[in-house]
Amino acid sequence: MIRLINTQTITIAVIILCLTSCNTNNNQANTANLDTDNPFASKVDSILELMTLDEKIGQLNLPTSGDITTGSAKGSDVGKRIEEGKVGGLFNIKTIEKIYEVQKIAVEKSRLGIPLIFGMDVIHGYETTFPIPLGLSSSWDMEMIEKTARVAANEASAAGINWTFSPMVDVSRDPRWGRVSEGNGEDPFLGSRIAEAMVKGYQQDDLSKNNTLMACVKHFALYGASEAGRDYNTVDMSKIRMYNEYLEPYKAAVDAGVGSVMASFNEIDGIPATGNKWLLTNLLRDDWGFNGFVVTDYTGIYEMTQHGVGDKYQVSEQALKAGVDMDMAGDSPSIPAAFIKTLKASYENGKVSIQDIDNAVRRMLTAKFQLGLFDDPYKYCDINRSKTEIFTPENKAFARKVASESMVLLKNEAQLLPIKKTGTIGLIGPLAKASNNMAGTWSVATKQDASNSVFDGLTEVIGNKATLLYAKGSNIDYNLELETRATMFGKTIPRDHRTDKQLLDEALKVAAKSDVIIATLGESAEFSGESSSRTDLGIPQVQKDLLNALLKTGKPVVLVLFTGRPLVLVEENENVPAILNAWFPGSEAGLAISDVLFGTVNPSGKLTATFPRHVGQVPIFYNHKNTGRPLGNEDGKFEKFKSNYIDIRNEPLYPFGYGLSYTTFTYSNYTISNSSMSVDGVIEVSVDVTNSGDYDGQEVVQLYLRDVVGSVTRPVKELKGFQKVDLKKGDTKNVTFNITVEDLKFYNSQLDFVAEPGLFQVFVGTNSNTKLMKEFELTK
Ligand code: BGC
Repeated sequence: MIRLINTQTITIAVIILCLTSCNTNNNQANTANLDTDNPFASKVDSILELMTLDEKIGQLNLPTSGDITTGSAKGSDVGKRIEEGKVGGLFNIKTIEKIYEVQKIAVEKSRLGIPLIFGMDVIHGYETTFPIPLGLSSSWDMEMIEKTARVAANEASAAGINWTFSPMVDVSRDPRWGRVSEGNGEDPFLGSRIAEAMVKGYQQDDLSKNNTLMACVKHFALYGASEAGRDYNTVDMSKIRMYNEYLEPYKAAVDAGVGSVMASFNEIDGIPATGNKWLLTNLLRDDWGFNGFVVTDYTGIYEMTQHGVGDKYQVSEQALKAGVDMDMAGDSPSIPAAFIKTLKASYENGKVSIQDIDNAVRRMLTAKFQLGLFDDPYKYCDINRSKTEIFTPENKAFARKVASESMVLLKNEAQLLPIKKTGTIGLIGPLAKASNNMAGTWSVATKQDASNSVFDGLTEVIGNKATLLYAKGSNIDYNLELETRATMFGKTIPRDHRTDKQLLDEALKVAAKSDVIIATLGESAEFSGESSSRTDLGIPQVQKDLLNALLKTGKPVVLVLFTGRPLVLVEENENVPAILNAWFPGSEAGLAISDVLFGTVNPSGKLTATFPRHVGQVPIFYNHKNTGRPLGNEDGKFEKFKSNYIDIRNEPLYPFGYGLSYTTFTYSNYTISNSSMSVDGVIEVSVDVTNSGDYDGQEVVQLYLRDVVGSVTRPVKELKGFQKVDLKKGDTKNVTFNITVEDLKFYNSQLDFVAEPGLFQVFVGTNSNTKLMKEFELTK
């Protein structure tokens, strides 16, 4: 039975010991602990003095609960190991009852009673699930994004969790990589703003509150740049590119006070991130001032043996000395290399010092103090909260709003959308009823079957105003093997054993009776996410064939697209009159999609990752360099001996920042306050944005800069500001941005962060293709 936290008095051996020892030792700080900023330092040292070597190493051990696994390790025998003091925390354990039980073992049965930390992949919501992060980022609404993290923290902490493995801020420009779905797209500036918002949403300003979570920024670092978009693959990148294009969002999370950092699976400069001292100590701690703890990714230490940098002893030693504090999932019997298995021997052989181990233990104990676990180890186990604060109607209503504001309208010929709730609406496609897929990837706590499908949403919203017909139309893919891989982890979409022709015939019958067809097609949830890289970026062929057959009927077709990555949609863009990219919208998918289809919500999402014309263009991103041979024409025509392709034009299908609305926005009166600026000056950029169409709407006004001449080559454009503005139809708003020298800075070849005098171009507009440009000079 779970006790109510407010009515119990907790007495734990370790707290008494700690407090006694703290009082007596307060003025005699352990000289090994040099962290003078740590308010818990003397308490931590007092506990450390009581600990055996085994108990210390135990604090660095993070087994999985066994509920959820992502690799070869499975937790086992966990209770006994907790009792022996061999476990510092558990992850991906769901339900307050289970958490309470294991915490009780730690607190009451282990020798020192040190509480456990409970981590979970609360990535885009807990039970109330928001759109996948790539979708969420498309809202460009930082307040809303912060609130999603706040809601997630509230729900997860009400279920016993106090640490989340989020935000994931890996910049990625390669949609083949399945994990683009988990991040914020290709831009470091936008990614940084989102990183800050998420950290703030999870942690607030007080980790000791019972409704906040410690955030963990991941995957440090550069994981999104894996070669060929193949997951877990090698990364090889120049330092100047790292600093200018990939590291900023991790740093933004650190600057926002993130409590922990997760090392990535990839190597950096030939050294796996997990054992990379330059990364985890020199950069992270010494340069950026991070003072939280570092956790590996799942079996990251063991994987260093596979990378080929040492045996099981060497890799643990290297990881510890590089700056890793906690080893995730190394505990399993099938995993030979892990702190818990080798560090003791390494210490006895003189390969690691007690200071190396103590440093890591200190950080883990400090985190537990920050979370308030020493004051009350059951503070996150409030049964009342778990019953009243999770998956509430209020949270679901918010998820519905967030989902509708994250969708991106890619095409809307002749204003086909919004449609009316009249006549007969034909809903066709293998994803139309797939409620268990709506949360998308990495949604471990979601209530899959409580998510509404498009069918559920339309049924509810239409009521008796129109007739809704449904046909599945096809399976997810012709290839059963691929379909199985793309519908795993409880995201099963049962294979329909009718023939392709039978499925299609049924769909055509529904189409024939319909006034408008809503085709719900695209990727199933597990087509993207971890270990779901693709080489083909199209909608699976069986669904394309279905779509073409529906188009042939001559009926108006709206494509509601599900995807976890940018897809190649050239044919669809050519032939389908309306395309709404819904991503994976979360718990309230069907209702949110209905809101947009019927115009209750006017779509305002803008892409945060470029949609290519062809997979061969990948990696493709807006903030590329000019090269010495840029194309000389604006219309993309092939030019010999210029940087282009013989068979396809350079530009993407849909650029970064692109997204339509049911209304139109007109930009006018674009001015900048001065044509020159000194290093301590400010340039004011001003533009009038008018809602010139027929619906109220929201526009994301974007500001880009180009540093025309630099000591190193600079991108053709870089996002440096954005504002999402609400505009009633007919209204005009004046939107202003201030540019200061900070916006002009970049890392030069010495990796100094500098602004160089010279010419700058300022662009404003509705997406990264904007040509609205003014120039100014930064003077010396
Ligand atoms: C993923 C992480 C995740 C961890 C714990 C790993 O496989 O790479 O993003 O946080 O598992 O579930």
